[in-house]
Formats: sequence, structure tokens, C-alpha cells
Amino acid sequence: MNTKNELTVVGFIGLGRMGLPMVENLLKSGFSVQGFDQSEAARAEVAAAGATACSSAKEAARGADVVITMLPNGSIVRDVLLGEAGVADALSPGAIIVDMSSSAPTDTTYLSEQLQPRGFRLVDAPVSGGRKRAVDGTLTIMAGGEPTVIDAIQPVLEAMSAKIFRTGKIGSGHAMKAINNYVSGAGMVAAMEGVILGETFGLAPEVIVDVLNVSTGRNNTTEVKMKQFVLNRDFGSGFALGLMAKDIGIANDLAEALNLQMGSLAETSVRWKAAQDRLGPDADHTEIYRFLADS
Ligand code: NAD
Repeated sequence: MNTKNELTVVGFIGLGRMGLPMVENLLKSGFSVQGFDQSEAARAEVAAAGATACSSAKEAARGADVVITMLPNGSIVRDVLLGEAGVADALSPGAIIVDMSSSAPTDTTYLSEQLQPRGFRLVDAPVSGGRKRAVDGTLTIMAGGEPTVIDAIQPVLEAMSAKIFRTGKIGSGHAMKAINNYVSGAGMVAAMEGVILGETFGLAPEVIVDVLNVSTGRNNTTEVKMKQFVLNRDFGSGFALGLMAKDIGIANDLAEALNLQMGSLAETSVRWKAAQDRLGPDADHTEIYRFLADS
């Protein structure tokens, strides 16, 4: 047990596929964690992991030095912090809030402006690596915000990650995350269309993936998703299709806000939203293959 970390109380709101294993790693590093999720089952799991399960977001924030949100999107984060849940009213003076969800950067800038006059500091620190690396404690973190504030939470972030990038001003971590997921989501569509095209011509899908993986067409989807989750129809990567569609939509909104014409980004966003409409937001994101194969 790290006794220095034990003095730091972390409030953790959002104990889903990512949040729960992240809490487990905070506990392993000796932090004291007060967790809350609207799901009763998630609260039971966090208690079983050794954290204090709280009955409200406000209770999880009370007395915490650092409050982490790992929620579906930025508008839920804002509601939890500033809305009826009343988290901001329960925060200790000087508390640091870390939004590790994949939120929209413009919402994050606005949230920071709302929190600052009340004496609270915000860092956006979204992650990449998926559930597997959340479990292993080897996430990549993209942290935006004041360097001194990030310094103060560095041990907390290190407990969950293998690599922390400081991306710049507040909102820059969230912008970086949206960019990553656009590139990942566009690469996934390209890899899947390549497999569907080749298979329709008569190539074996496993051969297509093997060739791509030793050629210039390889990407994250060909390397760690096609055989593992798609060709075997497992579709169990642990990342929801609705979350991927949201992230690519954030990247597209950002491009529009910056007056950038980006044809591939706009098209990719439309396709992921259409897949979400057909398959539902809770489908695994690798199931977009079924949508592409049927289109
Ligand atoms: P999830 O749906 O598994 O978990 C979200 C949790 O938030 C759920 O347990 C839900 O009950 C809870 N929740 C929703 N609204 C709430 C509220 N108002 N108060 C309290 N709890 C509430 O999602 P996840 O996969 O863990 O993703 C969380 C965030 O991390 C998302 O922003 C996602 O885009 C991002 N992310 C996910 C992955 C992944 O591979 N799953 C990877 C990187 C980033």
C-alpha cells in the first residue's frame, strides 16, 4: 500500500466498462475511492472491489481531493457537475475535476469557465486503449489543462495509464481523442470494406487480413479487431457503437466549428450514425461490419 496515495481521496463517477477497472487500479495504487454510478449493479461491483459505494454523485464528490468522471458524454458530465445532481455544490475548496470521458472539447471549455469562478479546476484527460488496457492499467491519457494542475493529479493518472501526453490548453485532450477515434473509425470502415470487397470477389477473409497485416494497408482494425472480434462473429470488443459514432460526430462538429471542409470526416460520421440507427447504440462498435456487409 502506498501511504502517500492513501491520503488522496478520489471521487469516481461512472463505473461502466472503463470506469470500474480504472477504479480497481486506483485502489491497487493505494488511493481511497468513493464511487458512484446510476446502476445499482455497478455500485455493488465497486463495493466488492474495495471502494466506498456512494448513493449519489454528490456523496462521491464530498470530501474528495480529485473527482473523476467517466461517463458516456460531455452533456451528462455537465449535468452531473452543474445540474440537479449538485456535485459542484458538494466539492471541497480547491478540488480538481478530471473528465476522463470522451467529451466534446467546446463543452469542456464551457464547463471550465463555469467551474473556475467557483474555485474548482478542470482537466480533460480522455483515454485510449479500450477495456483491456483499462484492466491492465496501461491506458494512454491525453491531458489538457494547466500544467500545475496536471502535476497535482499526475500520481492519480499514472495509476491507470502507461503513457500520459500533455496536449495543451483545456479541451485539447478531448479534441485529440475525437481526432484519434475519427482516424480509427475511418480505418475500421476501410479495412472492413476491403474484406467485404475481397470476399465477394472470392478471396478468403483470413487471407485478406493476413496480407494486410504484413503490408501497407494494416491498421488497428486489421491487427487487433478483424480476426479477434469480426471474422469469428464474436463482436465483443467492449466499446459501444453509439460511443464511436458520438466521438466521430464530435470530430466532425469540431471541423465545422473551425470552418474546415473535410469530406472523408463528414462521410465517416454519416456512416457511423447510420449504423447506429440500424444496429442501436449498444451494439459493439465492431458490429458496423454487419451494417457495411448489408449496405
Ligand atoms: P459504459 O456505458 O460502459 O459506462 C458508462 C457508465 O456511466 C454506465 O455504467 C452508466 O450507468 C453510467 N452513467 C450514465 N449516466 C450517469 C449519470 N448521470 N450518473 C451516474 N452514472 C451514469 O461506457 P464506457 O465504455 O465505460 O465509456 C465511458 C467513457 O469512456 C465514454 O465517454 C467513452 O466514449 C469513453 N471510452 C470508452 C472506451 C471503451 O473501449 N469502452 C475507450 C475509450 C474511451
